[in-house]
Amino acid sequence: MYSETITKLINQFERLPGIGHKTAVRLAFFVLESPKNFSEEMANALIEAKEKIKFCSICYNITESDPCEICASNKRDDSIICVVENVKDVVAMEKTHEYKGKYHVLHGSISPMNNITAGDIKVKELLERLKDDKIKEVILATNPTVEGEATAMYISRLIKPLGITVTRIAHGIPVGGDLEYTDEITLIKALEGRRQM
Ligand SMILES: [Zn+2]
Repeated sequence: MYSETITKLINQFERLPGIGHKTAVRLAFFVLESPKNFSEEMANALIEAKEKIKFCSICYNITESDPCEICASNKRDDSIICVVENVKDVVAMEKTHEYKGKYHVLHGSISPMNNITAGDIKVKELLERLKDDKIKEVILATNPTVEGEATAMYISRLIKPLGITVTRIAHGIPVGGDLEYTDEITLIKALEGRRQM
């Protein structure tokens, strides 16, 4: 129906999450009808993001400098680590302006159904950080989903023998919910109401 070049453009948009065929066609035609500098700026932003943004070698958050600003900051309490599933969860926690510790991003959760094991997420890297005896508490802020709970349980079992306090954020967050989409007040309450595991 469309030329090879347009089809290729549509196919690229379709690869994005949440974009179906119809939307992909609409976006492709939007690009075609836009001035040339629009597509250049768009392409450059994509390339630049991939080139400049990397993962922090300590917490695995995304960053342009390694270690990231949070890890490098001496204003943050480095005796507490808040463990989250994804980079977007760090953003959600930071928006509360309530948490002053450090983070650890797992990049996923344990999910036997999807063949994702502890080895596929940054658990080993977390344990490595805990060898530093400055760390007194680990807050498990994985999502209140089956996978998030299983991940929290798994990690708490590994950490407890190390003599570090392990807490789990309270369930102000609806079960099956996502930290990323939780409002700030609920998130603050969940953090304040955390319980020892
Ligand atoms: Zn970091």
